[in-house]
Amino acid sequence: MTVAAASPGMVIAIDGPSGAGKSTLTRLLAQRLGYLHIDTGAMYRTLALAVSRSGISVDDEAAVAALCQGVVIEFLRDDDGYRVISDGEDVSLAIRTPEISMLTSRISAQGAVREILLKLQRELGKGGGVILEGRDIGTVVFPHARVKFFLSASARERGERRYLELREKGAQATLEETLAAVARRDEQDAARELAPLKKASDAVEIDSTGVSIESVLSRMEQVVRERIAEPLGG
Ligand code: C5P
Repeated sequence: MTVAAASPGMVIAIDGPSGAGKSTLTRLLAQRLGYLHIDTGAMYRTLALAVSRSGISVDDEAAVAALCQGVVIEFLRDDDGYRVISDGEDVSLAIRTPEISMLTSRISAQGAVREILLKLQRELGKGGGVILEGRDIGTVVFPHARVKFFLSASARERGERRYLELREKGAQATLEETLAAVARRDEQDAARELAPLKKASDAVEIDSTGVSIESVLSRMEQVVRERIAEPLGG
């Protein structure tokens, strides 16, 4: 069954803290549905990389906003998913370092930065047939998304997943450091005033602690199918 054919216009929102499995699950679900995967965290990370390289102070919000306004972000689709291209450069790896993760969390608390990406994300999603993953998709970017998920997992498991990812990329981080960094970033994302990390009241929450990717994916597909079968407005 191809779900996409039955629902060309649907927007699916996937939110949750870091390491909850959003990226992997969004990629797999998008493949199964034939939907476009939009990684909004990668967009914030790309802006943070530009800020970091520019040498301007993160606290100079006007300068950060002016710089971010001019950054071009593209997703180049390939068989494995996508590469992130910024002003012609492939930044897919550069945006994933622990330093850029923390800097991203800081600049993403700034209103002007969020405003720039909010517009872009709404533009990318307006035609439907998309799954956006992030922190505020179901609460702010697409509050009327037809299907919303909030993915969670224990802090320990999320930290361990992030640690394994970093090790695979050859990074030197220790497990303890990674656990602490993930906790700090989530605290920062949840405590900020604008678009904090929060479950939308109508999101389906899935806790993946100790659960395989395959079974979380099946559950998500089932929710999508049920929603498609409901009359619009239901
Ligand atoms: O999802 P990822 O870990 O790549 O996101 C990096 C950071 O970008 C998050 O910690 C958060 O500060 C920010 N972000 C956000 N809103 C989104 C997506 C990501 O504030 N929709």
